[in-house]
Amino acid sequence: MNAIILLGPPGAGKGTLAESLKDKTDYLHVSTGDMLRAAIHARTPVGLRAKGFMDKGELVPDGVILEIIRERIDGEAPAARFLFDGFPRTLEQAEGLDRLLAEIGGSLSHVINMAVPVSTLVERLSGRRTCKTCGAVYHVVNVPPKAAGICDHDGAALYQRPDDSEETVLNRLAVYERQTAPLIEYYRKHGLLRDVDASVDPATTCASALEILNA
Ligand code: ADP
Repeated sequence: MNAIILLGPPGAGKGTLAESLKDKTDYLHVSTGDMLRAAIHARTPVGLRAKGFMDKGELVPDGVILEIIRERIDGEAPAARFLFDGFPRTLEQAEGLDRLLAEIGGSLSHVINMAVPVSTLVERLSGRRTCKTCGAVYHVVNVPPKAAGICDHDGAALYQRPDDSEETVLNRLAVYERQTAPLIEYYRKHGLLRDVDASVDPATTCASALEILNA
């Protein structure tokens, strides 16, 4: 099992990049945020536990996250390649992933660090709209759907995630700085970190990421 990680603050475009890479590579996209939102929607025990943390912009406890990752990996063939989006988000999760990989003989090949100025992040998150059905992501100004409020792919209604309100966005950015940004040094020390400028348009960011993955 081989894996890569997309690391970056909320709004860096991890989900957008993951979607483009999914079409151009054989990586399986694993987004803990999407998995948690699906669990909330399905009212599973994990979802009920996670909702309060997510609505406030806080992180869901490490034990819950490591468990859903383990279950997700267990279901795939040993040769599968995973693209983690939004995981790991704490040093404890990174160490948990290292242990899990050691257990199953897997390895991490790259950690793509998506750098974006804070002002851009706030603007991106507050304008973000998501499809209720397929999860496609739009932006009211930067990536508008063809018809306002409607998904281009399946015609379903777009919504604003409850944690994309301005107050929660600021908390998520603070949580990122405190709990997730230390992973940059962690993976730099392990020789896995590759920086990508994610302040530019999605196609350019994707081209930089592909260059790294194909090097
Ligand atoms: P973003 O990267 O834009 O914040 P995500 O969909 O990745 O969006 O995450 C949304 C929320 O889900 C986070 O604010 C957090 O509450 C929860 N979450 C997602 N992934 C993790 C994780 N690895 N550890 C803890 N909480 C997580």
